[in-house]
Amino acid sequence: MSHSSNLFLNLNYEPAIESLEDYHDIVTAAEYPLHKLRWRNDQVLSVLGLDPAKVSDDDFIEAFGHFQAVRPFLALRYHGYQFGEYNPQIGDGRGFVYGQVRGNDGELYDFGTKGSGRTPYSRTADGRLTLKGGVREIIASEALHRMGVKTSRCMSLVETGEELWRGDEPSPTRSGVMVRFSRSHIRFGTFERLRWIGRDDLTRKLLDHVLQIYYPHLWGTADQDQKFYLELVERVATLCAQWMAAGFCHAVLNTDNMSITGESFDYGPFAFIPTYDPRFTAAYFDHAGRYSYANQPAACYWNLDKLQDPLSMIMDKNDMQSSLLKFKDFYRQAYCEMMLKRLGFASLSEPETEELISATLELLAMVQAIGYNQFFVKLRQTFQLNWREEASNIFADHDWELTDEQLPLLEKWRIVYHQLLIRQPIAEIENMAKQLQQANPTMIFLRPKIEELWERIAVDDDWQPLYAAIAQLQS
Ligand code: AMP
Ligand code: MG
Repeated sequence: MSHSSNLFLNLNYEPAIESLEDYHDIVTAAEYPLHKLRWRNDQVLSVLGLDPAKVSDDDFIEAFGHFQAVRPFLALRYHGYQFGEYNPQIGDGRGFVYGQVRGNDGELYDFGTKGSGRTPYSRTADGRLTLKGGVREIIASEALHRMGVKTSRCMSLVETGEELWRGDEPSPTRSGVMVRFSRSHIRFGTFERLRWIGRDDLTRKLLDHVLQIYYPHLWGTADQDQKFYLELVERVATLCAQWMAAGFCHAVLNTDNMSITGESFDYGPFAFIPTYDPRFTAAYFDHAGRYSYANQPAACYWNLDKLQDPLSMIMDKNDMQSSLLKFKDFYRQAYCEMMLKRLGFASLSEPETEELISATLELLAMVQAIGYNQFFVKLRQTFQLNWREEASNIFADHDWELTDEQLPLLEKWRIVYHQLLIRQPIAEIENMAKQLQQANPTMIFLRPKIEELWERIAVDDDWQPLYAAIAQLQS
């Protein structure tokens, strides 16, 4: 028993993945010259049932900067398909599972580190995280969470005072260590490794673990394994649909970045799309556009398909294949659901939904002067009761510069939207204003915005603009 008053050190950590033994290596954390807490996520503390007022910054630093040990630190073993090529050389190269603990929702969560030092999987790399990388992960996860996407959160970011050299940042650049709060760090690639080493017994053991902890409603039921795969297909399709509706490009959809729980995590060169451009590609090194915005559903499908290889050591491939064919329907349903919300509607008939979404995408594809997320913010900010009276009232005061060819697309959109509004009872219109606020945060983290926030940190060590932007996101 710990006698510390630090609540993090007194949480009831469970030896979940630790007790399985075959999927990790025990590692130690790096020691740093500096420990400055730059980010603490009090919303996550609440999920853990901790009162933020009782957790000091020093508690964060002790646990997630100095890495006071509670349980052994576990670097997880995994492989993965990276840009289509199988890579058996990876694994947790700069992170480990610090501990696993129940939230007050009864679910098991991981504290996973990023930038905590070298491990047997670091290869030639330094095991470190740039401070900017940490800031970007905070932004991605908080923005997605605000939009209702199931995502890991960033629990803490501690600046660690080292100089790092990176090809994609002006170097030397500052260092940090992050602790991520996530549903699980078991990836598709965790299973892929077991196929590579030919261990059907370990695959069985790992799938049982996944079922018991992350799919408990399926555990012990008839056909539990096939039901798991089908539900995973649904979860991943839903997640991908939500990224698309949010205008989010993850950028590195390798199988080692795909969680077995269908949660979004591991944010590298991600971007929110500035405009609706299907070919938008976020990673500068993704020359072929494999993980472009519009390719994300195909990439997720491909990853789910590949996951059948390890799983087929213990379950029937044909059955999995027929589950995978449902991806498209799951995807479409989740996409329509979120897009409707972003457009202010709780529900519409199928043909109405199709018409509205296609009119919206057509407008946003053809009129690049209207930003993708800016469009939804504008809708939120200008939506009024009088839109129901006249189609021309809709976006009457817009300042978009439209060409003669583009104008008819806006006209068409107005007519479609107006028709839907007149079919809504007046009482519904009031709900729509609330719905629009809920679905469309006014803070949009396009790249120039993120760079601007980072500049303030890099040049003046001024963190307030970042904190203010996140506060606006959540308001
Ligand atoms: P990622 O692109 O962050 O998903 O990482 C892919 C693989 O490279 C994982 O095995 C990481 O652990 C490893 N990796 C990435 N950056 C570093 C680093 N700075 N030091 C050690 N390993 C790293
Ligand atoms: Mg990764």
